[in-house]
Amino acid sequence: MVQDTASALFGVEGLRVIEADAEADGTLTVWVVTDHPGAAACPECGALSGRVHESVLTRPRDLRRGRDQVAVTWLKRRWKCGNGGCPRKTFTESLPAVPARCRLTERLRGLAGAEVAERGCTVAGAARWAQVSWPVAHQAFAAQADPVLEQPLRRVAHLGIDEHRRGRPRFAIDPDSGEYVLLADRWHTCFFDLSGDQGLLGQVEGRTADDAAYWLAQQTPAWRDGVQVAAIDMCTIYASAVRRMLPAASLVADLFHVVQLAVKMTGDVRRRVVRQKYGRRSRSGDPEYGMKGLLVRNLEHLRPDQFGKIMDTLGRDRHGQEILAAWIGKEKLRDVLNLRARVTGSAPCERAVHDRLFRFCYWCSRHDDIPELVALARTISRWEHEIAAAILTGVSNARSESPNRIAKLEARLAYSFRNPANQRRRVRIACTRGTRRSQSATTRRSRLVTGRKHDPG
Ligand SMILES: [Zn+2]
Repeated sequence: MVQDTASALFGVEGLRVIEADAEADGTLTVWVVTDHPGAAACPECGALSGRVHESVLTRPRDLRRGRDQVAVTWLKRRWKCGNGGCPRKTFTESLPAVPARCRLTERLRGLAGAEVAERGCTVAGAARWAQVSWPVAHQAFAAQADPVLEQPLRRVAHLGIDEHRRGRPRFAIDPDSGEYVLLADRWHTCFFDLSGDQGLLGQVEGRTADDAAYWLAQQTPAWRDGVQVAAIDMCTIYASAVRRMLPAASLVADLFHVVQLAVKMTGDVRRRVVRQKYGRRSRSGDPEYGMKGLLVRNLEHLRPDQFGKIMDTLGRDRHGQEILAAWIGKEKLRDVLNLRARVTGSAPCERAVHDRLFRFCYWCSRHDDIPELVALARTISRWEHEIAAAILTGVSNARSESPNRIAKLEARLAYSFRNPANQRRRVRIACTRGTRRSQSATTRRSRLVTGRKHDPG
């Protein structure tokens, strides 16, 4: 079909521009008529009609031209169905680009959805920009996002599980029993692909073992069998869910949280000892106060004079020695973690890991008058296998932290979500946006390379 220039510029298949007027306020009024062979086909029986019943004017909303509005006026026909046996007597023309009963063109609807799905605008922002209502913009977004998110997950070798604070919980009173019913949980349990590029794999409301197991149970048995390592924070709830649903996977405790526990223990001991010694909290001028920053640092990052300062100041009295013992305990635990291949550059030996763990526990048992140190040793010995597995496999849950930041940002932009299902969709599409972009860029690049003609020079 040969198109005239104006129709080609307007760019809606099946519509021919017959006139365009620029108004004083910048609006461009475009008059169009139908120019599509299939438009006269009855939607009920498919028979092509040759009898016009009447002409009607519709004004579907369309994209802007730069900043200016475009007012489309479509002069379309109502046809009489020529098929005598058809229940439909008359019908108006419709096109794939402007379906029947639609008051917006498909390209405007698509753009409103893409603003949210691809550009990361809020639904309200996209609706304002496209001059449609919030439900229309949201529907357009969901229509684009759902097919992407409903694709089956690819195999995941290393799975990360973490909790994320969703927002405020919401309750309603059940009229029959008079009891409170939870409508929206405060927490989401999130699942991450730590070894591949799928990002956030899915979320489920709540953070109990049953919630996590429920999500895992929804995956295919083949997918569950493919998970070799499951990384979690030191949280017994997720551990029990993993043991129940992924019995073949080895469970790994995230080492960042192990160090965090040890650093917190050192601080707890220092605060308690200072209170015992002075009867108040520490303040500037106390020797222990000056140690505060040094005690949280890694041993290998201390200068010799800083190390000397710690030993001299804390070695002086009974109180200081208690803090020193806690600090050494922390460093002994870090010694175990430093056997990771990332630090040493060679594969760690299982025996060395257990040897160093034993040395840490032995140190704690020699200082069993420090309750915080004993509590830490208990926790560590309870998670001994998972910590050793983390060191031996080198898997950490760190990659689940950056989607957490994106999830927080989405909630902020939306001024928090009322509907958890909408929140899950928005967060997941945001957390996989980077992956989708890089995948499409790779496809484009490879097409460019394969499509280039051989130049004999
Ligand atoms: Zn018909």
